[in-house]
Amino acid sequence: MMTINQYVRPKTLQEAYELAQKKRNVVLGGMLWLKMQNMSVDTAIDLCGLSLDKIEENDEEYRIGAMVSLRTLEKHEGLNKMTGGALAEALKHIVGVQFRNTATVGGSLYGRFGFSDVLTVMMAMNAKVELFHAGVMELEEFAGMPRRTRDILVQVIVPKTADRLVYLSQRNTSTDFPVLACAVGFDSRGAYAVVGARPAKARRYRADMRAFGPEDITVETAKIFAGKIVSQVYFDSNLRASSGYRRKVCEVLIRRALLQMKGADVSDGGQCGEV
Ligand SMILES: Cc1cc2nc3c(=O)[nH]c(=O)nc-3n(C[C@H](O)[C@H](O)[C@H](O)COP(=O)(O)OP(=O)(O)OC[C@H]3O[C@@H](n4cnc5c(N)ncnc54)[C@H](O)[C@@H]3O)c2cc1C
Repeated sequence: MMTINQYVRPKTLQEAYELAQKKRNVVLGGMLWLKMQNMSVDTAIDLCGLSLDKIEENDEEYRIGAMVSLRTLEKHEGLNKMTGGALAEALKHIVGVQFRNTATVGGSLYGRFGFSDVLTVMMAMNAKVELFHAGVMELEEFAGMPRRTRDILVQVIVPKTADRLVYLSQRNTSTDFPVLACAVGFDSRGAYAVVGARPAKARRYRADMRAFGPEDITVETAKIFAGKIVSQVYFDSNLRASSGYRRKVCEVLIRRALLQMKGADVSDGGQCGEV
């Protein structure tokens, strides 16, 4: 159980940051993860009075406030158009609508959970995070930072790039944590895959395949790309799946994602007649 001694709504980010420096004080997002912890909190710092619940955009980027709910992201027309629906696909399996109405993007990314669909898809979207103290950095860099850092995640910045994305995940049962999550995309450097729920934190991988663009996707190249990616990924085992199973699933999902991007029929699970 979580017990809270004092609840405050800071009026400025500076105030929130200063309060967050004390070890027994805790920043609140939607509190969905926090409330599952056994902890005694001195001051709970609620960011809900800081106008961080908005999504703004300009010609270059989207700026998503830390308190924006996962459901708002899932339903956002512009972000979903840009990602070809990959963002909604990543979020729609997380527990249920009521849950996603409360869970925040700030809490989801600050937690840097090893099972995170949110971290996986936003890394594939080349997102940056803005921290009150540390400033703006790539989400990839932030994901590698130690969890003990006490900062305030202010917003997530998503560039309006033309990357094409497909997101796929595998779950043992619907709404459970993913056994494996992956997003495949193309940018100016070629194809990349972000693999999450390994079950470690999401990471981006590239294959050494010269001039491999979306127009080059075939059953054969998709298989080669998937093989080259999984050979670099470190998979682990936990109660949901073994590392070997994750490796197999990852290979199939990456292959399937590429074929889906090409618009190929993946009704046979992207196996295309092969195991
Ligand atoms: C039962 C359950 C199932 C889940 N299944 C999935 C799943 O399948 N896929 C998936 O991707 N996720 C899943 N999640 C995680 C979920 O989507 C949220 O990421 C998680 O609940 C955290 O969001 P929150 O807003 O509730 O954050 P909170 O629980 O409030 O906070 C999480 C952490 O982030 C810190 N924090 C929050 N906001 C900020 C901020 N702005 N700045 C600095 N620190 C901050 C808090 O202090 C805390 O350490 C699941 C969670 C639960 C409880």
